[in-house]
Amino acid sequence: MIYLMLSVWAAALALSLGVHRRLRRSERALAPSEQGWERRQLFLVLYPLPLLATTATTIAGLGAMKTALAQAAALVFNLVVAAVYMIPYLEALRRGAHRQEEAPASSLRMHRMLGSLAMTGLLNAVFGLAMVGLFWWMTKRVHVPTVLAAVAAGGGIVLAAQTVFAWRIRLQAAGVLAADHPLMAALAEMRGRVAALGEVKNVYLLPHDLFPVVNAYVIGPLPGSLFVAVTEDLLRALSPAETRAILLHDAAHARERHTLLLTACCAVWAAVALIFAMGACGGLPAPAAHAGPGLTIVRVILPGLGTVLWLLLPFAWLSRRCERCADGFVHRMGEGAALRSALIKLQRFTQAPSRWSWWFGTMATHPQYEWRLNQRYGTVE
Ligand SMILES: [Zn+2]
Repeated sequence: MIYLMLSVWAAALALSLGVHRRLRRSERALAPSEQGWERRQLFLVLYPLPLLATTATTIAGLGAMKTALAQAAALVFNLVVAAVYMIPYLEALRRGAHRQEEAPASSLRMHRMLGSLAMTGLLNAVFGLAMVGLFWWMTKRVHVPTVLAAVAAGGGIVLAAQTVFAWRIRLQAAGVLAADHPLMAALAEMRGRVAALGEVKNVYLLPHDLFPVVNAYVIGPLPGSLFVAVTEDLLRALSPAETRAILLHDAAHARERHTLLLTACCAVWAAVALIFAMGACGGLPAPAAHAGPGLTIVRVILPGLGTVLWLLLPFAWLSRRCERCADGFVHRMGEGAALRSALIKLQRFTQAPSRWSWWFGTMATHPQYEWRLNQRYGTVE
C-alpha cells in the first residue's frame, strides 16, 4: 500500500511539473480565445481529477500505516503534493481572468486566489468530515437505517454549508445597495408588478478587489434567507436597463424556488456519496486497508466516479432548466431585449464562445449563449 501511495504521489508531482513547464513555455497554451477557451475549460475540469485519486489513495492507505506519526506524515505529505499540484491549475485560472476585458491586469493575484481556494478547501474538508462523522454516529451509535441516516446527514450538512457560504458572501460584500439606488427602485417597481418578487429583499454589492468578474447571482438555500449579489464590475459594465433584466432573471430564480431545488439536488448527491463511501470503505471510518491496493483503488475511485457521472450530470441538467425558466420569465415581463444585450456583454467579458461542444454543454450549469440569445419566448404569459 505504501509503495502504491508513493507511486501515485510521484505521478502527481511529475504531472504537475510537466504541465507547469509546458505552461511556462507557451503563453498561448491556455489562451481564452475562441479556440483556446474550450481547451482551457477541459483542462480546468479534468486536471483536478488525478488529485482526487491521490487523496483517495492516501485515505485508503492510512490504515496500512503502523503509527500515528507515520499517518500524520503521510497526510502532511499529501497536502504538500496537493499544493504543488494545484500550481498549474491556479495559473490557468489566473490567466483566464487576467485577460478579461476591462478588468485591470493586477486584479486577480496568485496569493489572493491561493487564499480563497485554501479557505474553500478547508471549509469543504470541515463539512465533509462533519457529514461523515454525523453519518457514522447515526448509523453506528443511534442505529438509524443507512439510507435514512445518509439523507439526514447529507441534507443537514449541505444546508449548513450553503448557509455558511451565503454568510461568507455577505461578509465579503461591500454592503447592501441603499434604498434610493436606481436598482432598488427598479426592484420595488418590479415587486409592484409581480408580488412573488418580494422574496428578494436585499441586493449585496460585491467589491471589485475580491470579485473581479461581471456577475450576479441569487443565494440562500431557504426561501426566507434569499438575497441577490451583484459585482461592482457588473454595475459598471451593464446599462441600467440591462442590470434590471439580470436582476429580474435572479428574482425569477427566487420566485420559482430554484435555489431550494438545486440544494435538494446537492443533498441527494451527498446522501448517495455517503452510501457509496460506506460501501467502498466497508464501514466508516476504518479504511479498507486489508482489501489490497488494487482492489482498494477500484473500490474508492469507481464509486466516486459513478457518483460524479450520475449526480453531476443531472445537477447540471436541472440547473440549465432553471436558467431557461428564469430567462423565459424575463421575456414574459417584456424585458427580453435588455436581457439579450446584457447576455451579449456577459459573453464578451467572459470571452466565452457562442457554442460549446457537446461534452461541455452537457456539464455546464448554464445553457449555451447561442441558445440563450436566439430563444424566442412568448411575451404574454
Ligand atoms: Zn441564472
